Amino acid sequence: MLKDEIIKCDENYFMTVYSGRYPLVIDHGSGIRVYGQDGQEYLDFLAGIGVNALGYGHPVLVKALQEQVAKLIHCSNLYYIEPQAYLEKLLIKNSCCDRVFFANSGSEANEGALKLARKYFKTRGEKKFEVITAERSFHGRTLVTTAATGQEKYHKPYQPLPEGFTVVPFNDLTAMEEAVGPETAAVMIEPVQGEGGVYPAEQEYLQGLRELCNQKDILLIFDEVQCGVGRTGSLFAYEEYGVEADIMTLAKALGGGVPIGALLAKEKVASAFEPGDHGTTFGGNPLASRAAVTTLEVILEDGFLEGVKEKSSYFIKQLEGLIAETCNVKGIRGLGLMLALELSSSISAKDLTMELFNRGFLVNAVQEHTLRFLPPLIVEKADIDLLVGELADLLK
Ligand SMILES: *Cc1c(COP(=O)(O)O)cnc(C)c1O
Repeated sequence: MLKDEIIKCDENYFMTVYSGRYPLVIDHGSGIRVYGQDGQEYLDFLAGIGVNALGYGHPVLVKALQEQVAKLIHCSNLYYIEPQAYLEKLLIKNSCCDRVFFANSGSEANEGALKLARKYFKTRGEKKFEVITAERSFHGRTLVTTAATGQEKYHKPYQPLPEGFTVVPFNDLTAMEEAVGPETAAVMIEPVQGEGGVYPAEQEYLQGLRELCNQKDILLIFDEVQCGVGRTGSLFAYEEYGVEADIMTLAKALGGGVPIGALLAKEKVASAFEPGDHGTTFGGNPLASRAAVTTLEVILEDGFLEGVKEKSSYFIKQLEGLIAETCNVKGIRGLGLMLALELSSSISAKDLTMELFNRGFLVNAVQEHTLRFLPPLIVEKADIDLLVGELADLLK
């Protein structure tokens, strides 16, 4: 099929939830570049929304997946498989958690986290089920994770939503303290908010949340679906803060492009799950587990995460140059290679994204006046120069 026919099919047959797709049929990718059907090249600073951490066609990942596809794609969780065992070991040895469960997406991992929090208190005979989340947060698209998401626009089409969620301003410890009640089971936070516009938590905030949760016997849940797996320059974002959660979720980058999510927890919480309490058909299947093992192994190679930090500093420095050059940039936010450019209110992020698209760059207008960059972690300084050069030209 050629481009026009593909777009026609989508218009005629696909549910209209993604109206406003870019007029590009991505055919293949290599490194941080993707290519359209007729060979047009794009530098991808979005990476499938933070998914393609190793970019496209990474030789180590390709080889591992080819091998795995030929060997075994799926079997049920009624049996043991080696790739899943490797993945369990890798995640537990490299995190503050003691046990893990595999899902297929971020929403599902979060759904599991919320079920686990409820089960934990149920097991102890306590009537605690409410969860407090933050304004601008994003936790997923299932009904429950939609309810957990602190953005009105996602709630509206589905009200009434499942009960038990309270939303408070982000980075506001007092608001959190005031929202806690006798039925509060958990506080769920993204250490770096992604969809809300790339807002990192403040150090005192996460520390304060940890202390509050300890005092009030509440579980702290970190949604690291977007900020985890190397994105911030540490394997997990919580390491940047030195604050540990009781439950943590991962997805996006974990499988390097193959769908997989993970729910991790400390032993005292994880042990609330008993046989039959939770499960999945696909979660952590051989293909997805092998993809995640391979992705993590590359990220954990000597120097890889240091490289992310170094490229992050470089990227930020180049973006800061823009502030000096134009009054159309108000600020820069983010951690590691999860960065945002706050534009002046006269500049539409959507229009700017389209102009960059026309010049061969994929970025994301995460909010009305905010541009988001989530490049593959293998991005190079030369790629960053190309993007910032175009931005300087467009924003002048
Ligand atoms: C993307 C995202 C989710 C949802 O993940 P899906 O895989 O789309 O279900 C949840 N939380 C955060 C922080 C995310 O960025």
